[in-house]
Amino acid sequence: MDKGLNESRKDFPILDQQVNGEPLVYLDNAATTQKPNQVLTAILNYYQADNANVHRGVHTLAERATDRYEAARDKVAAFINAASRKSIVYTRSTTEALNWVAASFGNLVVNEGDEIVISQLEHHSNIVPWQQVAQKRHATLKYIDLTKDGELDMASAKRQITDKTKIVSIAHAANVMGVVNPIKELAAIAHQHGAYMIADGAQAVPHMKVDVQDLDVDFYAFSGHKMLAPTGIGVLYGKQDLLEMMPPAQFGGEMIDFVHHQDASWTQLPWKFEAGTPNISGAIGLASAIDYLNQLGMANVQAYEREIVAYTLPKLLSIDGLTLYGPSDPNKHTGVMAFNLAGLHPHDVATGLDMEGVAVRAGHHCAQPLMDYLNVTATARASFYFYNTFAEADKLVEAITAVKEFFADGIS
Ligand code: PMP
Repeated sequence: MDKGLNESRKDFPILDQQVNGEPLVYLDNAATTQKPNQVLTAILNYYQADNANVHRGVHTLAERATDRYEAARDKVAAFINAASRKSIVYTRSTTEALNWVAASFGNLVVNEGDEIVISQLEHHSNIVPWQQVAQKRHATLKYIDLTKDGELDMASAKRQITDKTKIVSIAHAANVMGVVNPIKELAAIAHQHGAYMIADGAQAVPHMKVDVQDLDVDFYAFSGHKMLAPTGIGVLYGKQDLLEMMPPAQFGGEMIDFVHHQDASWTQLPWKFEAGTPNISGAIGLASAIDYLNQLGMANVQAYEREIVAYTLPKLLSIDGLTLYGPSDPNKHTGVMAFNLAGLHPHDVATGLDMEGVAVRAGHHCAQPLMDYLNVTATARASFYFYNTFAEADKLVEAITAVKEFFADGIS
């Protein structure tokens, strides 16, 4: 299969362009994915035909906009197998979802002397909000270590999660190490100790079938823009009883039941959390993205990514001087592949690759504690999605070799 899954590339006109005189090879999908025509058309169609503010209006357009916005919520609920649409709260992003859980739920349940457990491979958006809770509540923030291969060390997890733990919050799929973490197992351990389990699904939901009930997570966060939808729309899933308990993070229109001069009461779930005019077109774009992914089938998306990783990873590992972060076994590695080249700064590597038309990311990937743990300041990172081809994987490998040679010539 050399054309990307189901020849889907034709739906992504952005991929059909030249960069620096070379065909674009877009391998920065962990940062954000491209958007298919179907999603762009759904958003355009909404603005051309149905645009109005939601919930408040009784006129026809307002009803249509509300219906589309709420139908999108049902689609999200089904996509992650939530038990109820009331469990699906729209947010701006994973970052906002995790901030809301930390500030509203974390501050409610974490008390002095309690512990919050995260891991060494987290993104800043699953670290900094918990630091804030720990500081405010005089709690301790603890880290689960990684194995030599870069996987979560479950022996360390069992040591760190204790009866003092109130919150365990872990990435479902890692944005640098390219591993999938055993969230179901972690949730069981957390629950045995009376703690709540939160998962950061930003790198998981776009790439595999996620079933929040099967995982038995208490909260789960993800972003639309990493799964074909526009920026500015994300999701916080929460178990209904916990969302009932959790105070709103923002206040204003739409989220109230009744406002008196001195106080107010909140409306029901999920609107209690959605203050102000929401990102209506974003939700509609997200629903269209879910339709697109459902049509491909998440099992097919995952299987194709596995194939392309199995093809690419050994080639990367055979490049002299290349250090891969995360497992070298392709069966354990997702389409996120972080690496460094001996003697070269990852920014130079990424700039060199861009000259070859290959778009990868370089930097700390919002994971500075992980960089510290790995004893590096930064890495380059190539990240694949279902529309990437095997020919593009070859181009990545060729371009890395060309960059190495360019700098070797320049230095010698
Ligand atoms: N968590 C992980 C694992 C991520 O990869 C990202 C995005 N790089 C985020 C959280 C934050 O996502 P967003 O910027 O969409 O809020």
